[in-house]
Amino acid sequence: MIDFELSEEHLALEKTVREFCAGEVAPFIKEWDEKAHFERSVFDKMADLGLMGVCIPEQYGGAGFDYVALGLVCEELEACDTFLRVAMSVHVGLNSLSLLTWGTEEQKQKYLVPQARGEKLATFGLTEPNAGSDVIGMRSNARRDGDGWILNGEKMWISLGDVADHFLFFCWTDLEKQKARDHSGMSCFIVERTMEGFSSGTLHGKLGIKAGNTGYFSLQDVRVPKENMLGEEGEGFKIAMFSLENGRYTVAAGATGVIRAARDASVSYANTREVQGQTIANFQLVKQKIADMEADYEMTHLLWLKCGYLKNEGKSSAKAASLAKWQATIRSEKAASMAIEVHGANGYTNDYPVERYLRNCKAAIIYEGTRDIHTLMQADWALGLKKEKQARKSLPAYKSSEAKDATA
Ligand SMILES: Cc1cc2nc3c(=O)[nH]c(=O)nc-3n(C[C@H](O)[C@H](O)[C@H](O)COP(=O)(O)OP(=O)(O)OC[C@H]3O[C@@H](n4cnc5c(N)ncnc54)[C@H](O)[C@@H]3O)c2cc1C
Repeated sequence: MIDFELSEEHLALEKTVREFCAGEVAPFIKEWDEKAHFERSVFDKMADLGLMGVCIPEQYGGAGFDYVALGLVCEELEACDTFLRVAMSVHVGLNSLSLLTWGTEEQKQKYLVPQARGEKLATFGLTEPNAGSDVIGMRSNARRDGDGWILNGEKMWISLGDVADHFLFFCWTDLEKQKARDHSGMSCFIVERTMEGFSSGTLHGKLGIKAGNTGYFSLQDVRVPKENMLGEEGEGFKIAMFSLENGRYTVAAGATGVIRAARDASVSYANTREVQGQTIANFQLVKQKIADMEADYEMTHLLWLKCGYLKNEGKSSAKAASLAKWQATIRSEKAASMAIEVHGANGYTNDYPVERYLRNCKAAIIYEGTRDIHTLMQADWALGLKKEKQARKSLPAYKSSEAKDATA
């Protein structure tokens, strides 16, 4: 049964994150954005609140909340700034949840525990200079070397790429299958920044998410023990798709936060800006924009919530996550753009946050499946050309008895 009421623990968590954003980020975000400054200490504070492992079980260093809690955190964080939610997406959604589901006990103890505690930052390396939507086009590879593997490759457009400690690295382990474009020749490895042959850099000149780090990394003959392979040999593509299902969920919840922030900024401005002796809130076309933001917020909130519910039940959410991500991201761009118009010329300056919302939210239409890719996927599902597959592994179903008190 779906329950639309958030639990007391959820509400307390939401309040905690909202207060954290208001106190620790909102006063500084304009300056960080202007200077493209990445404030690493923010994540230590988030770790103190348990956010870096919010939905990871306590036994692995997490706070033990459910997957809906992860969505709530992402919505709150991105209502403040996108860089916070991006870190949650790669650290928790794309990396930690994959370790939780696919990792051996040894891998969980070595990598997941410090990640969930926020002692180490983690990210996800799939994209390459010549392979984004076309994952199969990647060139990174691994060859056996005794009881280990030698890894080579270049990863591009990696969130936290220049600051993370741990990386999931996707590559070909079967070069014959690479030639045949058969994704069962791909594997996934856990890589550490300190490994010999690892190098990374920061990408500059981005449109938005300027307070966040986006980078690249390169592996040149990096030797890893066989214990660093995640899942079985040949399961890399499956793990990547599993990770993206969770990542898309976090992106959807975050984009919903942008719509809410755009609506709130528009309401506040419309109630104070006076034109012709009355506030602009009286003008029908201003109301129309605010009504659209309201509708889009409610719709996208329900879409990600449904997805969180499926995850709590241990059910596949591939279609739901794709739909929520697709709709929330395109509606967040529309809401941010409309919010600028509600603010008139003031909206076009960084004296108000709405221009930052627009610059920030554009990237989410591109990463974790572009708008076009999700459009085609949804059409294929509707046409019966694509089916929800029974994955070899799914997220561990959430047990409500594991809930934690957010204020504890
Ligand atoms: C800020 C930011 C952060 C990112 N963080 C990460 C990260 O942490 N880890 C990571 O691995 N990647 C990350 N990415 C990369 C991102 O996932 C890719 O950019 C995305 O997958 C698109 O790939 P591409 O840029 O190569 O575009 P392309 O795949 O070259 O697409 C270009 C255009 O062609 C269209 N297109 C491509 N293929 C098809 C098709 N088959 N059918 C129809 N249309 C198609 C696309 O929709 C798009 O409009 C990030 C990107 C950005 C912008």
